[in-house]
Amino acid sequence: MIDVKCLASGSSGNSYAIDDGESVLLLEAGIPAKKILSGYLDLFPRVAGALITHEHQDHAKGAAGIAAKGIDLYATAGTFEGISDIDRPYRKHVVRIGEQFNLVSWTVLPFETKHDCNEPCGYLIYSHAARERLLFATDTFYIPNTFRALNVIMVECNYSLPILNESIAEGRIPESLKPRLLRSHFGLENVKDCLKANDMSTVRRIYLIHLSGNNSNPETFKKEIQRVAGKPVTVF
Ligand SMILES: [Zn+2]
Ligand SMILES: [Zn+2]
Repeated sequence: MIDVKCLASGSSGNSYAIDDGESVLLLEAGIPAKKILSGYLDLFPRVAGALITHEHQDHAKGAAGIAAKGIDLYATAGTFEGISDIDRPYRKHVVRIGEQFNLVSWTVLPFETKHDCNEPCGYLIYSHAARERLLFATDTFYIPNTFRALNVIMVECNYSLPILNESIAEGRIPESLKPRLLRSHFGLENVKDCLKANDMSTVRRIYLIHLSGNNSNPETFKKEIQRVAGKPVTVF
């Protein structure tokens, strides 16, 4: 089974690790490198690399730091263009949307996501050691593809429209942020549609990630996704 760990999730930083018993992939490097290095200390001898979805700080601020400590980075050309401080070019591995690649015990397929940055992607990740398929999708307002035979889903569930409207009405966030949010992040209602569009029969667990501090409710999100998907849900 693929084991999923999380050091940080949300707009202040994202850092996850997936472990299939043979090797480990880091997903995102959106917290200081020091924290990533100490947080996954026991996993480090088995880290095959770090996959990064896009250049925003909450996903990439620790990328240069972990590269300096010997971790190979995988991202699209556009994403690397947006991360200017990596001074170890040989640690950069450019991935292309729709082209799968192998990384120790994993096969990884980058797919297109919809976000306000250079060249964002999500990752469909198969573990040959665990024989499980994991979907990693964050910072996208929808997902154009559907996927077969998923076992683990890690998906952004940023906001729900009623809570967002309430936050605006109560002045917690300015109205002017709403259009950007709707066109760049995954809301509860859209996550539900996405899960309904995919075959859930083989899914073992769903992890909800990147919840907004102002515009989400972890307990409600967990219940609603559990009801729609009929699978156990963990909220990070
Ligand atoms: Zn983000
Ligand atoms: Zn972003």
